[in-house]
Order: sequence, then structure tokens, then C-alpha cells
Amino acid sequence: MTVLLPDSLDRACAQLADHPEAHVLAGGTDLMVEVNFGHRRPEAVLSLARVPELKGWGRDGDTLVLGAGVTYTELCDPAIAELAPALAQAARTVGSPQIRNAGTIGGNLGTGSPAGDTLPVLAALDATVELVSVTGRRTLPLAEYCIGPKRTARDATEIIASVSVPVARGPQEYLKVGPRNAMVISVAGLAAVADIEGRRVAVGLGSVGPVPLRAPEAEAWVVDRIDWSAGRLVDPADATEFGSLVAAAARPIDDHRATADYRRHCVSVLARRALTRMFAA
Ligand SMILES: Cc1cc2nc3c(=O)[nH]c(=O)nc-3n(C[C@H](O)[C@H](O)[C@H](O)COP(=O)(O)OP(=O)(O)OC[C@H]3O[C@@H](n4cnc5c(N)ncnc54)[C@H](O)[C@@H]3O)c2cc1C
Repeated sequence: MTVLLPDSLDRACAQLADHPEAHVLAGGTDLMVEVNFGHRRPEAVLSLARVPELKGWGRDGDTLVLGAGVTYTELCDPAIAELAPALAQAARTVGSPQIRNAGTIGGNLGTGSPAGDTLPVLAALDATVELVSVTGRRTLPLAEYCIGPKRTARDATEIIASVSVPVARGPQEYLKVGPRNAMVISVAGLAAVADIEGRRVAVGLGSVGPVPLRAPEAEAWVVDRIDWSAGRLVDPADATEFGSLVAAAARPIDDHRATADYRRHCVSVLARRALTRMFAA
């Protein structure tokens, strides 16, 4: 197997252009599982371990820019958690400490699984994904980046460089249902983020559709049910109707992990719970 070890983003792009068959390797927590199970036999691997440009994060005005190599452990750091609380909450639910130390946000985007825990958060935050290759850079909204289950708009010669989200403008929640509390692929995941000044609530759904979904009808409906200056629900009972409307936006399937009906039920409970936590009396 050819192992490519570039030490800069430019060199990584050049080597990937020369070896488009190479598999990009970040933390390896998805890729190496596939190799170990014999589902993939890469002839070439391009490791991002020595590419410094992907590892950092920073704030640019009201935007948080996360390098693709930022790990889940780093996402849980209070400095990032303050700017993107739901992303930190999602990161805290991922795998085990070992997986959180190795796994990256770029790898979650690279795999593009409907169950990826950061993806509903990125959907709710209208995140943009930056892709780089020898031919240049392009930025895609998450909704255009995720095109199907484990299918993304990334070209084989592109490297995910970063993902950008607005810094928190109100309360945020990420909640997930699985058969146990840790080391679990989500049966349903839900992110809810509020923009207090803009008077908006956005919802992202995971594991209940081929790609991360939004719930536009519920998002529009809830705006007038919130007392924005007090930061609470006008009538706490509205959280139940919100849950039903969010569940109506889900497009789940029956599979070995759960039935579609159970997933829809989970979404309604998660949405009710998230809204109640964000706008508690
Ligand atoms: C025990 C275990 C538990 C897990 N639990 C969870 C969980 O709770 N929630 C969850 O969402 N996931 C979970 N995962 C899956 C995995 O940890 C995540 O998807 C993680 O984000 C993958 O990141 P990575 O850096 O390890 O990616 P890698 O395995 O290195 O790569 C994953 C894919 O992305 C591509 N890729 C990676 N980085 C880039 C880049 N910068 N540019 C282009 N392509 C890139 C790779 O080519 C590959 O196709 C778990 C995995 C294991 C083994």
C-alpha cells in the first residue's frame, strides 16, 4: 500500500491530484473500521496527520471556523463549546474518550453518514463546508454537500479544509436516542438552535432521513409561540405540538436499529424536550 504523508495542505492537494484513488485518512475511526472488516482495501492512503492547516480553529467576526482536523475532544473544550454549544453537546455523545481523541469533524463530514452526530447540528446552523484541491477552493452549504446516505458532493481530489458556523446567538441543544448512553450509533438525533435577536429557531435531524433534515414548518410555527424578550415559551404546552410538527418533517426508514414509527416518536420527544430546555419558564 502506498502511504502519502504530506506536510502541508498544498502538498496534500497535489498528492491527491496525482493519486485520485488514494483514501484520505484523518483519525481513522471510520476508515480503519472498514479496512479491518475487509470492506475496503485501499491501494493508497493519504494521511492528514502532518497537515497543520487542518488542525486549528478560530473566530472570524460572528463566524466560527473549524479546521477539518478538529477532534471531538477539542469540540468539547469550553472555548469552542461557548461559541457552538450544540456542537460540543453532539461531540460529547460520540463514541468513547479514545474515539473522541482521534475522530474529527472533517471525518464525520467525509463519511457523510445520516447518523453522524455533528451533521444535524451543522444543518441547523446552516454550516458551510470548504473544499480544497489543486484547482482551487469552493464553499458549499451543508444542504448541497450531503447528497445521500454516505454520499457527498466532495470530488475524489478534494480535501475538506474547514467547516464554518455562526457563533451562538441563543440557547442550543443536541439530543440523541440510542439503545444505551455511550458508544452508540444514534437511532435519532436532533439539534435545535435559537437566534434570540433574529427571533428564529432552527432544527436539524439525524438518522431519520437519507441526509440531515430541517423542519421548516415547525421552525416557522414556533416563532410566535416564544416570548422572545423573556426567553420562554408563551405556553409551555406548545412544546408538544412543536414535537409533532418536527416529527412530521422526519423521513425515517425501518432498519435493524429501529422502526420508522419509533424514530418518528423519538424525534417528537427530542424536539419537545429541546424546546422546553431552551425556553424554560
Ligand atoms: C467505536 C466507534 C464509535 C463511534 N461512535 C460514533 C458516534 O457516537 N457518533 C458519530 O457520529 N460517529 C461515531 N463513530 C464514527 C467516527 O468516529 C466519526 O464518523 C468520526 O468523525 C470520523 O472521523 P475520523 O477523523 O476518524 O475519519 P476517518 O476515519 O479518518 O475518515 C472518515 C472518512 O472521511 C474521509 N475524510 C476524513 N477527513 C477528510 C478530509 N479532511 N477531507 C476529505 N475527506 C476526509 C476519509 O477519506 C473517510 O472516507 C464511531 C466510530 C467508532 C469506531
